[in-house]
Amino acid sequence: MDALIKIDYSTCTNCFTCVRICPVKAIKVSKMKAYPEVQSNRCIGCGDCVNACVPGAIHSRSSIDDVKHILKSKLKKVVIVSPSISAEFDDITDYRKFVQMIKSLGVNYVNEVSFAVDVLASKYQSLFNDFKGRYYISSCDPVVVNFVEKYHPKLIRNLAPFVPPMIAMAKIVRMKYGQNIKVIYIGPDIASKDVALKFNSDGKVDVVLTFPELRKLFSELKIDENLVDFSEFDDPIGYKGSLYPIINGFIQAADIDENLLTSNVISVEGKKEMFESINEFESNVKVIHRNLHVTYGNSLSGPGITSRGNKLFKEHLVTTYANKRLSNFFRAEWYDNLLKYQSLDYSREFQPDDQRLDEPEPEKIEEALKVLGGRVDRHTDCGQCGYTTCRDFAVDMAKGIVIPEMCSTFAIRNSKYYTQTLMELNEKLATTRQALHETEEKVLSEHDTALQASELTDAILEKLRAGIVFVDYKMKIVKANNTFCTILGEEAEEINEVIPGLIGADLNKFFADDICNLFSYVIENSESIDGRDVRHENILLNLSIFPIRENHIAGGIVRDMRAPEVQKAEVTRRVSEVIDKNLEMVQKIGFLLGEGASDIEKMLNSVIKIYDNDSKK
Ligand code: SF4
Ligand code: SF4
Ligand code: SF4
Repeated sequence: MDALIKIDYSTCTNCFTCVRICPVKAIKVSKMKAYPEVQSNRCIGCGDCVNACVPGAIHSRSSIDDVKHILKSKLKKVVIVSPSISAEFDDITDYRKFVQMIKSLGVNYVNEVSFAVDVLASKYQSLFNDFKGRYYISSCDPVVVNFVEKYHPKLIRNLAPFVPPMIAMAKIVRMKYGQNIKVIYIGPDIASKDVALKFNSDGKVDVVLTFPELRKLFSELKIDENLVDFSEFDDPIGYKGSLYPIINGFIQAADIDENLLTSNVISVEGKKEMFESINEFESNVKVIHRNLHVTYGNSLSGPGITSRGNKLFKEHLVTTYANKRLSNFFRAEWYDNLLKYQSLDYSREFQPDDQRLDEPEPEKIEEALKVLGGRVDRHTDCGQCGYTTCRDFAVDMAKGIVIPEMCSTFAIRNSKYYTQTLMELNEKLATTRQALHETEEKVLSEHDTALQASELTDAILEKLRAGIVFVDYKMKIVKANNTFCTILGEEAEEINEVIPGLIGADLNKFFADDICNLFSYVIENSESIDGRDVRHENILLNLSIFPIRENHIAGGIVRDMRAPEVQKAEVTRRVSEVIDKNLEMVQKIGFLLGEGASDIEKMLNSVIKIYDNDSKK
């Protein structure tokens, strides 16, 4: 079974009106959820949220499909109608038309709940007059019963121990027509939809229909007042119970003394009045010494009535209807019925369903007040949030039922703060954008410069006769020139065609470990290796390695000793070395002998000259 109250999030505008209006704070707003949530266990079924939601996003559980299903049943169908119907159908000229319109739905019998009110009224009269030390709260209104069970569980034993008129009437028609029937109740409130679920067997109501739902059915099935004849309600007919929608109507039906000096019953009607009177009943019943007949006031303007307001006009409609009904009233017959049906069991027990939340610690409340922004000792108390004082709001904030955004002052202040922050952010954004633009231009220019430098470096690298390679600490080639690839052989040249510069290739792929280790050594120790002869696949290479970036990159100059120009240059270099060393030695000998050194120098210089000349050819 669906919850009694549901929010359609596709139409909810998050205005929080329902949260503000819910008298028991059964609609929760939390920062974690995008929309308000109805907490069914806390709901008392007053229907205020349904009426307050302008976009119509909150609905009570619809019964139309259930009724249509029942109307198809082969069992006899009995409709029991609340006397509030007179306040709803002011557009129907005669109640007898209305009765026939209901029968046109495919219903066998139409009975008035006002008779059940008469029966219960006599029970209440006995209860109130036969004082046994306990004062009672009337339990006809399901909203009152829900409120006591959930929020004043201590008063459970003060609820008058009788079923509501709807259930009493179901018992009466089931006694009259037998148990094998379907009972449909039509009334002004939605709380009765859940009440019906609690009673079975002889008090079973199969479905509860509100007046707007009934109108919808009439419209769908094209049932119109002008197309039907008159029809009377079925027996048993009610008497003063027809006045039940008016607060004093029930007291009058029960013939209870209304004299202010002598009456033992106080009658109270209305939302605020109901909460206040029950609160007071709990705290002051020993002083009040009266029973309490209280209703939420939904009989004339509940969520199951098409239009709210016009209370006096609606009361007028009820009294006019009652007078019309009583013009053909047979008191003796009514009385016989009263005696007959009084014997049924109308007793009821109530179950506490405590939904009160623990009072938060004072520090938590003060913390909440601080969040709201006011000074703890001076609040605005504007009431915009639906609470009388900021403190009350802060209490529920500390309980986690509401969020500070529901406070208009907080919201306005925050919106100013947000506007200010937004402006500052916009300014920062503009500055950042400008800086970004400038950086972008700089980067582009640097990129161009780097590109040019890179192209220049590449060109220089390619002009060098020696093989050049740069290697990182993972032995990956960062860059190599064409000569390096030529020295390494065909495979390297082929790779170079696909991946120019062998970028990313593994040095180990081309050189044996001993050569790679030299590169590793230079990178790890940041020490150069100059002119080391190494063998690579039977080729004699001369290798110089030098660190470029400490611990990261090293550069290598590789010369193929087979190349004639390298050979000559190398011979020249090495002969120069020999000459230098010999000269040094000769100088030392000359120093010792004092003669003959210049001849040896001439001879060796001539050798160098020959090689130099050859290399220039
Ligand atoms: S009143 Fe209606 S629209 Fe506003 S938050 Fe509640 S459900 Fe949504
Ligand atoms: S029906 Fe009443 S108690 Fe339930 S959520 Fe709506 S306003 Fe609150
Ligand atoms: S200032 Fe905020 S919390 Fe206080 S009453 Fe107004 S709306 Fe509610």
